[in-house]
Amino acid sequence: MGAIKGFMEYGRETPSSRPVDERLKDQKECYIPLSEEKYKEQGARCMDCGVPFCQSEAGCPLGNLIPDWNDMVYRGRYREAVELLQKTNNFPEFTGRVCPAPCEGACVLGISEPAVTICKIEEMIAEVGFEKGFIKPNKPESRTGKKIAVVGSGPAGLACADQLNSVGHEVTVFEKEDRVGGLLMYGIPHFKLDKEIVKRRIKVLEESGVIFKTSVNVGVNKSANELKAEFDSVVLCGGSQKPRDIPVEGRDLDGIHFAMDFLPQQNKRNEGDTIPEDISITAKGKNVLIIGGGDTGSDCLGTSLRQGAKNVYQFELLPEPPRERSDDNPWPQWPKVFRVSSSHEEANEREGKDKITEYCVSTKKFSGKDGKISKIHGVKIEFGDPDPETGRPQMQEAPESEFELEVELVLLAMGFVHPIHEGMLVELGMDLDARGNVACDDNKMTSVDGVFVAGDMTRGQSLVVWAIAEGREAARSVDLHLMGETQLPHSQFLK
Ligand SMILES: Cc1cc2nc3c(=O)[nH]c(=O)nc-3n(C[C@H](O)[C@H](O)[C@H](O)COP(=O)(O)OP(=O)(O)OC[C@H]3O[C@@H](n4cnc5c(N)ncnc54)[C@H](O)[C@@H]3O)c2cc1C
Ligand code: SF4
Repeated sequence: MGAIKGFMEYGRETPSSRPVDERLKDQKECYIPLSEEKYKEQGARCMDCGVPFCQSEAGCPLGNLIPDWNDMVYRGRYREAVELLQKTNNFPEFTGRVCPAPCEGACVLGISEPAVTICKIEEMIAEVGFEKGFIKPNKPESRTGKKIAVVGSGPAGLACADQLNSVGHEVTVFEKEDRVGGLLMYGIPHFKLDKEIVKRRIKVLEESGVIFKTSVNVGVNKSANELKAEFDSVVLCGGSQKPRDIPVEGRDLDGIHFAMDFLPQQNKRNEGDTIPEDISITAKGKNVLIIGGGDTGSDCLGTSLRQGAKNVYQFELLPEPPRERSDDNPWPQWPKVFRVSSSHEEANEREGKDKITEYCVSTKKFSGKDGKISKIHGVKIEFGDPDPETGRPQMQEAPESEFELEVELVLLAMGFVHPIHEGMLVELGMDLDARGNVACDDNKMTSVDGVFVAGDMTRGQSLVVWAIAEGREAARSVDLHLMGETQLPHSQFLK
């Protein structure tokens, strides 16, 4: 807890954002951190609430010891705060920037007042940790002689590698892309997570002894079975990379792309790479439609605006979320409410609208000229009572609501269905679950002995914080499997 009456003295404050017209001219992060004094005040708002739901199953998936480090920040005991935070979270500098903060949805103060600014305090602790040298390479004192291959360098793979290296195993991370980081590097835009932050962590991991091998696509240019034979254990952390498609007439027209064909290109340009003209996708000067109202859609929006799109539109099939929690979504559940991302703030201001996303819209077909997209044909959707068999609300087209919109670029951001099966998973003969994700037991062991799985590859598309929790749990199971005992902690809330 912070100061006993801190929550009565101070209101919630969050970092301010740079002006929209300034940030649309660059790719830098949007927020300006609070001053040290302000962070202390925010830490002081944490109450002695008795049962801190923020660190319970309803709150932080990592079980971060939030009230304790809030108190340490309030008292300026930063070294201890960094040490405590690192016990549960390998990468607080990532979650402090991109986590949607279920902890804040479960904050007890949040029942009657705005919740404690937990996420940004976490980021501050991480930044102080790097600035003051409290976060440093963690080389194990001795090596076990066991060799482990981690496939995929997203947050799940990195967390798994960090944990396994810390107890003395030799860990090699294989990544098919040319840079390490998974979606942290080639998905989430710079304006949400600066890539220097990702590289800074990779350097710490390298200096701790983790080996990274890029441009190795396991199951394609490196045999998965060979990898299995060369290492004592293998952990698959390949993410959920198969995008959801929209199989309507005109889908094959030029100018309709998956979000993940578009976003990584900009991340690469920001890193100084040149994208060959024949595959380059840009929103510059175009009417851009983004289909899908989630995180990925929002990232396409901010990226399109920065590239100089003429107009941006965003359609979402589902209804607009309520402004306040609904009765069937009580505290401490994650509040399913209307949110305005930094990209939405930018789009609203640039387009002079209250909100950019149009809800309850379905795409009927695309049409075009000379093989290129020129129009989307849509219709408004009405949601009826739940289907008695599936429990899902029944959808129907609203009468006389069909419309057309002229567009030159369509970005499909409707989520991901499962991992890519071809290549590694097929070669290993991996069992899949009903959704097409990699099946595993409670110890994250797959159907193949000695091969484990973590992150979106088994969980389905999720969040960075869950990927870290998954990676930690897989590391624990691998250590136990290889050594017969383990000191590594459980991820207590994984199901
Ligand atoms: C555009 C976008 C924005 C997002 N924004 C947020 C956000 O703001 N906050 C949040 O919490 N979550 C966000 N998410 C979700 C989050 O990024 C993921 O849940 C998380 O990264 C999953 O981690 P992972 O390690 O399981 O997989 P990934 O991060 O997907 O990493 C998997 C890695 O494995 C590699 N790989 C796959 N197959 C092979 C192979 N055969 N051989 C070698 N390498 C392989 C891939 O190249 C990739 O680098 C976002 C997702 C997207 C797509
Ligand atoms: S990782 Fe996410 S849920 Fe956990 S404390 Fe940080 S912001 Fe909250």
